[in-house]
Amino acid sequence: MVKFEEARVRKHKDIFVCRKCKSKIKVSSFKVSQGEARCRKCRRSVLRPKRKK
Ligand SMILES: [Zn+2]
Repeated sequence: MVKFEEARVRKHKDIFVCRKCKSKIKVSSFKVSQGEARCRKCRRSVLRPKRKK
């Protein structure tokens, strides 16, 4: 189960979507968790992972 989750994370690795303007951002999930990742367009740090569900 854990390995499956890891594989899924790796597949969509480092791609996040801005909740504000919906642009895709390639940034490490570590930075996102630290709150350092920002949208290039609108400067918001409100991001969600690319994957759904
Ligand atoms: Zn944005």
